[in-house]
Parts: sequence; C-alpha cells; structure tokens
Amino acid sequence: MEWIDLRSDTVTKPTKPMLEAMWQAPVGDDVFGEDPTVNKLEETAANMFGMEAGIFCPSGTMTNQIAIKMHTQPGDEVICDELSHVYQYEGGGIAFNSGASVRLLQGNRGRVTVAQVAEGINNRDDIHKAVSSLVVLENTSNRGGGSCYELAEIEAIKNLCKTNGLILHLDGARLFNALVEKQQQAADFGRLFDSISICLSKGLGTPVGSLLLGTKEKIKKARRIRKAFGGGMRQAGIIAAAGLYALEHHVNRLATDHIHAKLIEAALLSNPKVETVLPVETNIVIFKIKDDVNPEQLVLQLKEKGILCFTMGKQQIRFVLHLDVSEAMVQRTVELLQKI
Ligand SMILES: *Cc1c(COP(=O)(O)O)cnc(C)c1O
Repeated sequence: MEWIDLRSDTVTKPTKPMLEAMWQAPVGDDVFGEDPTVNKLEETAANMFGMEAGIFCPSGTMTNQIAIKMHTQPGDEVICDELSHVYQYEGGGIAFNSGASVRLLQGNRGRVTVAQVAEGINNRDDIHKAVSSLVVLENTSNRGGGSCYELAEIEAIKNLCKTNGLILHLDGARLFNALVEKQQQAADFGRLFDSISICLSKGLGTPVGSLLLGTKEKIKKARRIRKAFGGGMRQAGIIAAAGLYALEHHVNRLATDHIHAKLIEAALLSNPKVETVLPVETNIVIFKIKDDVNPEQLVLQLKEKGILCFTMGKQQIRFVLHLDVSEAMVQRTVELLQKI
C-alpha cells in the first residue's frame, strides 16, 4: 500500500533533481567559513529578505533558540503566544539555553495583536518584574492551523517594540507558505523583524536545515552561539545545495498544497464525525471531532486505509499537506473522509 503521509511536512524525501544538485555541490569546511554552497545559500536567503546576513543551522529549533539566546540576557522575559513552537515544542529551551522566562499571550489561532503585546510588556522601572526584551511571532502558526498574520498587525507590533526597546523575532518555519498565500513580499518581513528563522525542511522539501537571518553583527554573534550549541557543521554544502534548489524550485508550488488543504477541509466539513475545522489558510488542516468519537481510534482507522496523521490536543487531529502528497492522494483522502 502507498502511504498518504499527512503527519507533517517534514516527512518529504528529496526529489531526483534535488539529489542531483546535492551531488554536484562544491563543498568546504563551513566552520572555517569555507563552504561555497553554504555561503551562497546564506547570501541568497539574506538577499531575498533584504537582510544583511544569514546562518545555516541543522534545525528550526536551533535557529529559534540561537535567536532567543542572542537577543536576551538571563532573567529577561520573552513574549509569545501560548501556542507558539518556541514555548510548546522546543524542550523548554527558552529556560534551558537562555535562562529567560516567558509571558504567554492568548492570541487568535496563534496570532497576537499589538494590544496584547502591549499588555505583556513589564514596566522597566519596576524592579519586581523581569525585563521584557524580546517578542517572538510565528507565521504561519503551526498550532493555529497554518494561520497567517496581516502585515499591518506586524507593522504595529514592530512600532510598539521600537518604542519600548524590545527586539522582534519571527519564527518563520513556514513563512514561505504565508508569502505565497497572502502574496506578501519577503522584503517587508526583512524590514520588520530583527531576526527571522526559516525552515527548509518543511514545505520546501529539503532533508535537513534551517536559516537564521539578521544584521551582520547579530549573525556574527549567532555563529559563536551555534558553535557552543554544537551546531557547527563541516561539509554542509551537500545539504545547503538542497536548500538552494528548494528556494528556486519549491516556493511557488506551495500554492498547490494550499489548494489540497482546502479540498480536505471541504470534505471534513461534510463529515458528521467532525465538530469544527480551523479555517484553512495554508497547508495545515486542524479539525475537532465530536465528543463521542475517540481520536486515537479515528487515527488508527485512517491508518488502516493508508492515511497517516497525528492527534493534536484534545479531540483534535492534524493533517499537513506537502510535496509528497499528490493530487491523486488528495482525491483518495477526500473520498475516504466522505465515508468514514
Ligand atoms: C517545525 C517548526 C520549527 C522547527 O522545527 P525543527 O524540527 O527543529 O526544524 C519551528 N517552528 C515551527 C512553527 C515549526 O513548525
């Protein structure tokens, strides 16, 4: 049986032309700064966003954690949504790596408003309070079901941060999904954020790797932190080549995943077992099933029919679309969801 793997967009395998690009890549020792393919990837990504510099890292968790480390001092407070990856899924890294505390905001599907951020900032003159120094936004929001920010909201949050001396970091693991869907410009994000983390191994379909973008000065600091975190890689050009290939060939095709996600959303909405579906905006579909349906059993039932997925929170199941899910597979999924 051919599996339809909707567990995550991290499960993709490199395509033949991507493997060919990896095979051809000139390499060197990246800890010495001598890997031409890594250097090219870092420059290419930074240029796309109009940012000064970039650094290639093994994972999105590492790029986020390096950003938090370089922007904070121990005892500082990081402001983010309660659903955010940096808080939920990075192993307590904010405390572990940076000794920082967290102020959680209750946003709307993972997105926070400027008013909420304003309320989360501690009074700097009150010695009882931790120093609020960093705001982390996530776009698209994973736990929010792939929801996207409006640029105007980010702009307002940026102005608030500037006025109050806070730094603004973007967990843009799936930023390209948002750019493609909302037809927004990469340079606008580069202008608004002090640092941006981007995953190449999600919808872009590379086997491994993430990028952290920022100013020359910050990325120089990030290189030291990456080394200390054990993330300095050697002939990493082999995997960076996959990233360069993906930035050129796998960005616009994300729109296809979004169409597929919409088709699945429609099928779910007509299924009597389904209570609600989070409005689908990009490649993630999170739905809530009725109270009398057992989510683990439903996941097993789907598995017997060849569909792999995960539960996510109470009575919720998540599907993620990606480049290894074909139109035919989506069709099969839709047909099955109408019957199950
Ligand atoms: C996947 C993901 C990351 C990084 O994950 P890694 O598995 O460490 O690469 C960061 N933020 C969000 C929102 C993600 O979905």
